[in-house]
Order: sequence, then C-alpha cells, then structure tokens
Amino acid sequence: MNAFDVEPQTLHAHSFVFDTHCDTLGHAVDPIHGRDLTQWGQKGHLDLPRMRAGGINAQIFACFPGFDRLNACPTSASLARVEAFYTLMARAPEQITLVLTAQDLAQLTPQGPIGGILGLEGVEPLAGQLSLLRTFHRLGVRNVGLTWNPRNAAADGVEVGSSFGLTPFGRDVVAACNDLGIMVDVSHLNPAGVEDVLRLSRKPVIASHSNARALCDHPRNLTDDQIRAIAQAGGVIGATFVSEFLTSEDREATLDDLLDHIDHLVQVAGVEHVGLGSDFDGCHPPQELNSGEKYPAITAGLLRRGYSPQDTRKILGENFRRVFLEVLPRK
Ligand SMILES: [Zn+2]
Repeated sequence: MNAFDVEPQTLHAHSFVFDTHCDTLGHAVDPIHGRDLTQWGQKGHLDLPRMRAGGINAQIFACFPGFDRLNACPTSASLARVEAFYTLMARAPEQITLVLTAQDLAQLTPQGPIGGILGLEGVEPLAGQLSLLRTFHRLGVRNVGLTWNPRNAAADGVEVGSSFGLTPFGRDVVAACNDLGIMVDVSHLNPAGVEDVLRLSRKPVIASHSNARALCDHPRNLTDDQIRAIAQAGGVIGATFVSEFLTSEDREATLDDLLDHIDHLVQVAGVEHVGLGSDFDGCHPPQELNSGEKYPAITAGLLRRGYSPQDTRKILGENFRRVFLEVLPRK
C-alpha cells in the first residue's frame, strides 16, 4: 500500500487515460504485411487489446506520412493511415470510435469504445493548400503538428537549426485550425515557431510528445520557458517515452527517467498542464513501458512518488481531456 492507501490498478482503472501520440497506424497500412490491430500482437507496442489492457481511453493516432520524403506522396501516405483507422473502426466498432466533437470526447466511458483522434504530424500532406486542411478535417483530423523535424511549407522543424518562425502558410494553418476546432501541436517545431504559435493561436495548444530540456538536452525537448509559456496559454505537455528524450546518458532509459521528467514538468508548468504522449510504435521506450498494457506502471510510479490520486488522474488524462474539450468543435 502506498501513502494514500490506493491500489494503483484500481486508480488506473478508474482514471481517464489519454495518450496524445502513437505511430501505430503506419504499421497497419499494408493489408498483407501490416499488423492486425484487432489482435494482441507480438510486434510493436499498441493494438486494441493492449490499449484496453493498458486502460487507454483516448488515443491520438498520427497519420505521419513516413520518412521517405523524396519518393512518397505525403498526401496519399497520410490518407492511407486515415483509411487504416477507418478500416479498423469498421472491423471493431464496439472497440474503437472516432472522436470528432467535444461531445464525442465527453461521452467516452471506460467500458465503451476507445476514442481515436486522428492527427497530422507535419503539414506535408496539405501540399501547401489550405483547402486540404479542410478535407482532412472532414475526414476527422483534430490534431495538427505543423512540422516533423525538417522544414516544410508551414515552418521549420527542430533539426533545421534556424531562427525562422512560421511562414504565411503556417500562420494561415494555425488560424484555420482555431476556426475548425483542430488542436495545434508544437512538438517537433523549432523555438521561433513555438513562439509564433503561442502568439498567434486564439486557443490553447499542446506539445503532444516532448520532454524537459533541463533534464535531457535534446532539441526535441522543451525549455523551461517554453513549458511555462504553453501552460500559461492553457495548454498541456505530453511527457513521452522516447528513450533519446528521456536521458542523454549512455544507458537504457527507465520508467524513473519518465517520472523525473513528469516531476520537472509539474514543477515548471503546474500539475494541471502535464499529460502523457507515449510515441508508441514510433520509438524505443524503456523496457518497463514497451507495450500498451504496461501503462498502469506509470500510475504506480506517480503514487510511489507521492502524487495524490487526484493529481495522478490529471496527469493520466484529465488535463488533455479538459483542453481538447475546450478546443474541439461543439458539433
Ligand atoms: Zn514525433
């Protein structure tokens, strides 16, 4: 028993768990060699049975077009992931549903289907056309990260090393996301871009999968100033399981490293502004967290570190739930 006499499994089962990033759909696009996400898989990190076993109630599925920017058409690659989600939903409608509105999110229950939210990770699939953002919105996209690591038509990703902020197109995308009820996501964006988004967005924004730079000096992690600014704008930061963003030391990252980042984010942003974004199926996570069903280990870890059940629930998902309820369209 921990200090609060709460069984971690019980608390976890009664919490709303919201994971703001996975690359799972990319592993399901190939009808022959792709993973069957209705089955408990031997490969990768996430599928419907493992999400259920891990108590995940809402999950953002990135429709990331892939790394091969020279040969692939990002629009069709992204659409293939959207299609993989719809195929999955058609096969298991009682297990997964698409969240389009604030009401859809509010209505999710622990027993009912898991709420899937579609996201773009980089606006390459828009091919510089704002009309395609509206098309992706019609298909259900409700979270948009402006960039992955390189430069695109909207902004520069963290690998570019420039001090350029958003392009005129990038600014239009932020405004259109605000109008349409799409969450803007600053993970992967360079510092000047993050600053521009925070200045321009009329709604809170999130960092779906980023850790604290103060603990691990990686360009994908956020400085304390950025963490504070996102929180002050009402946003939430999703601590991520990516080993390279957890520790810069030459060793395996651990669950304790993740808890250290959560502690730091809570210290800087406040407990209302911290959540979880695993990057399952897109990263090498710590061994204690290398499969969806291991999610309750985080709850046990937070209780062990003295978080109250109430604060633990905020970090597990209530914070992201709150900010998405604020930003998603009403109907
Ligand atoms: Zn990513």
